[in-house]
Amino acid sequence: MDFAMHYTEEQEKFRQEVLAWIKKNVPEKMKSPTDQDDRTPEYFAFWRERHKELGAKGWLHPTFPKQYGGGGLSAEHESILQEEFIKNRIPGQFTNGLIHAAVLVWGTEEQKQKFLKPMLTGHISAWQKYSEPQSGTDLANCETTAVRDGDEWILNGSNQFVTGVQRPNMLYGPAKTDPDAPRHRNLGFFLIPFPHPGVEIADQKMVNNGAQHFIYLRDARVPADHLLGGETQGWQVVNTVLEAEHGGRGQAFPREDAIDAMVTWLQEHKKAGRALGDDPVVLQEALEAYCEAHALELMNKRTYAFHMGGIEMTWEGSNTGLYTRDSVLRNVGRIRHVYGPYALLGSHDSSVPHGGVQDARQRSDFIRMHGAGSRNIAKVIVARRIGISRTRERAAATARV
Ligand SMILES: Cc1cc2nc3c(=O)[nH]c(=O)nc-3n(C[C@H](O)[C@H](O)[C@H](O)COP(=O)(O)OP(=O)(O)OC[C@H]3O[C@@H](n4cnc5c(N)ncnc54)[C@H](O)[C@@H]3O)c2cc1C
Repeated sequence: MDFAMHYTEEQEKFRQEVLAWIKKNVPEKMKSPTDQDDRTPEYFAFWRERHKELGAKGWLHPTFPKQYGGGGLSAEHESILQEEFIKNRIPGQFTNGLIHAAVLVWGTEEQKQKFLKPMLTGHISAWQKYSEPQSGTDLANCETTAVRDGDEWILNGSNQFVTGVQRPNMLYGPAKTDPDAPRHRNLGFFLIPFPHPGVEIADQKMVNNGAQHFIYLRDARVPADHLLGGETQGWQVVNTVLEAEHGGRGQAFPREDAIDAMVTWLQEHKKAGRALGDDPVVLQEALEAYCEAHALELMNKRTYAFHMGGIEMTWEGSNTGLYTRDSVLRNVGRIRHVYGPYALLGSHDSSVPHGGVQDARQRSDFIRMHGAGSRNIAKVIVARRIGISRTRERAAATARV
């Protein structure tokens, strides 16, 4: 099988258009810093405006339909955009984009115009509020409540670990609409505006980059048209979002900057006049990291090709998500062995290699085990889909965008 993308003359012209936009609009100092902790208020303000410009061109979400603010472009165009944006350190929109396909699948025409269009064009950023203090892994054990009152819903509950930078325009997640109904049939799914009376956000500092938050809903009233899907269809909507979060979309242009940096480090550095790779332990560790990173890259490309090609998937996406968590954790350990203490120097240290990429990854990759539901549950999902578990499960409804 040939995994390489092949581009037409028209698509290569598109690449030149993308590169020309970057050159004209993005000064070097506004490119994404190696350590995301180094992003400044000016950086966020600059990119919020550029994201709107990219949204207007359909380049923020290129494969989504044009009538809802997407680009109506092909997978190849998206691959070109991702490649050039990653190489040129152009940051993606500051939103949790996992909601977009769910609005396309579950939203009414009015909701797509009202919510999806401003999301896809960079005017609304949204955060995912799923995890509650007692229900992270066991998401169906949601205790947030939603009570109908005329044309509104009144929401009460709390969340933790909710990721996002600055402040969002919207929060999304499930709430119990029918406390007497059985599990999985008792939830609705809500889009909650922010700022909004009764909605509070507080920072939750973690070692990665301080981008997690607590959310508190206290008699927060949201209009009835902020319910996505039916009153008790929330679990299905939750799962459309999770299908993407667990890896079901793959990646058009996966990139492993920490591994690229490690290869450069080995090529350029010597110890006592000898190549670092002369040490057999360093060589073994580096090679294992390199191979595993490339296996992950291929899995991501395969999933992307399946998803965009409309090929039915069962375990492949979730398996990619599971392998990602395990392999990035193994690899940051190997990278520590290759670099020694240099792997732990921060971006502001005078002798830090590669602008601090390894230190940033040491901090972020070990907690990736816990995001998107625990790793144990990810295994259960894959087992159910390949048919070796107590129960069987199909992939959730999703959209080919
Ligand atoms: C960096 C980061 C970003 C995050 N971003 C978000 C976000 O944007 N939005 C959001 O809503 N949440 C977010 N989360 C929360 C994340 O989804 C939860 O941490 C995750 O679901 C696990 O829940 P928990 O922390 O409550 O652990 P628990 O559910 O308490 O699990 C603790 C341990 O028990 C094990 N366990 C629990 N139940 C079972 C079971 N039935 N079978 C086997 N083992 C089990 C788990 O595997 C785990 O090892 C984020 C977390 C992190 C670390």
